[in-house]
Amino acid sequence: MPIYEFKCVQCGDIQEFILGAGNDSEEVEMKCKACGCETLERVISRVGCCKTGQQGAKPQVSSQTCGSGNTCATIDLPGPSR
Ligand SMILES: [Zn+2]
Repeated sequence: MPIYEFKCVQCGDIQEFILGAGNDSEEVEMKCKACGCETLERVISRVGCCKTGQQGAKPQVSSQTCGSGNTCATIDLPGPSR
């Protein structure tokens, strides 16, 4: 599940919240555990789930012969799975 870091705007404490994965974000109580402040700002600092910019990650093209001499090309783009 994706983990997001949020920083409390009052005391600056950084805390992690698990969002998404079918749950509404409203179900997660976004509240600073240190001071109880409910104003948290998103911190984007770490790669949570997906590696991007991999070396050697190129689109893979696989050709197939389909039907009457036609060639179908299937292009698989690297990246997060759909
Ligand atoms: Zn706080």
